[in-house]
Amino acid sequence: MLFTRKITINQFINLKPVTPHMQEELEPIERFKFACYLGINCFNECCQNLNLALTPYDVLRMSRALELITTEFLERYTSHHIGIATGLPVVVLKMLPDGRCPFVTENGCSIYADRPTPCRLYPLARVRAGDEVQYYLLREDFCMGHMEGKEWSVVEWVEDQEAEDYNEMNDLFFELISAKNRSGRNLTDGELERIYRACFDVDWFKKETGIDGDLEALKEGIRFSIDLISHV
Ligand code: SF4
Ligand code: SF4
Repeated sequence: MLFTRKITINQFINLKPVTPHMQEELEPIERFKFACYLGINCFNECCQNLNLALTPYDVLRMSRALELITTEFLERYTSHHIGIATGLPVVVLKMLPDGRCPFVTENGCSIYADRPTPCRLYPLARVRAGDEVQYYLLREDFCMGHMEGKEWSVVEWVEDQEAEDYNEMNDLFFELISAKNRSGRNLTDGELERIYRACFDVDWFKKETGIDGDLEALKEGIRFSIDLISHV
C-alpha cells in the first residue's frame, strides 16, 4: 500500500539513503512477487513513522481528495524545509503524534485513489537521474506482501497502480531540480518562497496568475520556477 518508514527514495529526493540489502534494481520487464490486501497480517504497518516527501502533484491530488485548497492542505498536513541535496523546498507529510499517517484508517488509506507517489509505487521506488529512470524493489522486514504469489513486472505494477500521470508530472518537477543543479547558485529566501508557492500551492498560484485549470497552473508554476532559477 505504501512506502517506507524512515527511508525515503522519493523520486528525486533522497532524504535518507536506502541501505543496499533492502533494495534491488529492476529492469522494466523484470518480475517480482507482491500482493497487498485488507486482512494481510501486516495491514497498515507501513502507514506510520514515515518520512514522506510529497511532490507538487501529490499535494494537488491529496488536497483535491480532501476538498481543501492547497494553501490549507499545506498548512494542516505538511511541513517544509530546504533540501540539503537540492537547495529547493521539500514538502513533507506530517505524521500524527502517535506516528500514524493522518489518512490511515482501519480499512486502509482514506485517500487511496489520490495517495501520494511513494505510497502508490510501493514496494517499488522510482529514481530519476538525468535522463535515466531506475526502479528499485524495496524489501522491508515488516512487509509480508513479498511472500504472496502474485507476480508483476515493473511496467504492469506502474499501470495497475495508475502511476503514469504521477510519473509524468513528477518528471516535470525533476526539470526544476535539474535547472537548479545547472544554475549552481544559492537561491534567496524570497526566491525559495516564490518557488514553494508556485510549485506546491496551486490555488495560490492560480489566484496570482488568473490561470483556471489545476494542471495548467501546476505546470506553469513549475515553468515559472525554472525561469526564475535560470534567468538571473
Ligand atoms: S497516504 Fe495513505 S497509503 Fe500513504 S501512508 Fe498515508 S494512509 Fe498510508
Ligand atoms: S503488505 Fe506491505 S504494503 Fe501492504 S499493508 Fe502490509 S506492509 Fe503495507
